[in-house]
Amino acid sequence: MAEVRVRFAPSPTGYLHVGGARTALFNWLYARHHRGTFILRIEDTDRSRSTEEAIDQILESMRWLGLDWDEFYRQTDRLEVHRRAAEELLRKGAAYEHEGAVWFRIPRTGVTVVEDLLLGRVEFKNSELKDLVILRSDGTPTYNFACVVDDSDMGVTHVIRGDDHLNNTPKQILIYRALGRELPKFAHLPMILGPDKTKLSKRHGAVSVLEYRRRGFLPEALVNFFARLGWSHGDQEIFSREELIELFDLAGVGKSAAVFDEQKLLWINHEWLRRADLGRLARLLSEFIVQEGIATEEQVAALGEGKLRRAAELLRERNKTLVAMAQAARFLFPGELPWPEEASALLGKTELATPLEEIAAALEGCEDFSPQGVERAVRAKLKELGLPLKAVAQPMRVAITGRTVSPGLFDVISLAGRELAVGRLRAAARRLGKGDG
Ligand code: GLU
Repeated sequence: MAEVRVRFAPSPTGYLHVGGARTALFNWLYARHHRGTFILRIEDTDRSRSTEEAIDQILESMRWLGLDWDEFYRQTDRLEVHRRAAEELLRKGAAYEHEGAVWFRIPRTGVTVVEDLLLGRVEFKNSELKDLVILRSDGTPTYNFACVVDDSDMGVTHVIRGDDHLNNTPKQILIYRALGRELPKFAHLPMILGPDKTKLSKRHGAVSVLEYRRRGFLPEALVNFFARLGWSHGDQEIFSREELIELFDLAGVGKSAAVFDEQKLLWINHEWLRRADLGRLARLLSEFIVQEGIATEEQVAALGEGKLRRAAELLRERNKTLVAMAQAARFLFPGELPWPEEASALLGKTELATPLEEIAAALEGCEDFSPQGVERAVRAKLKELGLPLKAVAQPMRVAITGRTVSPGLFDVISLAGRELAVGRLRAAARRLGKGDG
């Protein structure tokens, strides 16, 4: 088999969204699986709609997802090539000029067949296709034309794209033939729908790739999730990048529409958070703590590497995004905690004021502030007070973390550190003492 050459060809008219990212990924995986070439081609010939900002966003999204390209082109660098191809069609009588634009002539009769690798044979009656502009009056080529000239010049062997382009394919095939060029193979990917089975949109929570980064998703989770939008391998759900490269092929791409399910994305992200290297996760957690306005860079740095790693390790167990982890890390920093509704009930028991005060004092004098050291100190004090742990555990948790759900109590006390833990227990005891829990 000849070398595989595929391309992702976004029009830079907006951000890279779920659909585009899925197309990019499938092309990239196809290239990597077959040890071929992955081309990134920016289709910017529609100058009124293309922006530099969109190009930057697309490149940044691709880099973040780890979809590296082997060749890069901007279509507007090739305008001369497109013009020459249009002249060739004019010379051959396959195109004509009208109102300053160049039009491609569609044969009036016959059928054009798309032999699609996924959809099989799809026939189009030429009588139902219309002549199309290939060069606008300003001399820029239109999508269907530039796409054919470039795919052909760039030696693209497989055109893998969303099935919203299927209707363009017969026109493109006719242009290939008129230019006397060899056809690539086509594969049109099934649509992506929202959970309500309508076309995917922002309403379904589907946003730009960079917005997912901001929301605290890991790139490997998105790659895993996008791969499963239309492709499957048995009932496996979690795939590493290496596994995807090894297993991906068009045979695994289904015919029916893929459904975008944000709950599943959260689940996959959680799985990847739990697999992430702790050093990396600690770095990401610090970035998100700052991004979410929970603490300043200096405060985060003051925590130190070891605590951040420990926090990352504990907080990833119950949180599905880096944003959620960062919010759950609020108790590591000074400042008042937003106590939940349930807190008043838990901290409303005035009889707990003295025990909390006593435990605070015990912790103040506790030399070994490791989770084990803290546990020993708390348990010894409780024994002395004749109280079971469960009488105070939940109020202590709320006092120290501001939450009813957190990592293990002794872990959070140790992580919060002596000053914060003691201060917060005393503040809770004072509130209880006043009876205004
Ligand atoms: N520029 C087109 C788009 O963004 C490319 C379609 C294709 O892959 O041929 O939809």
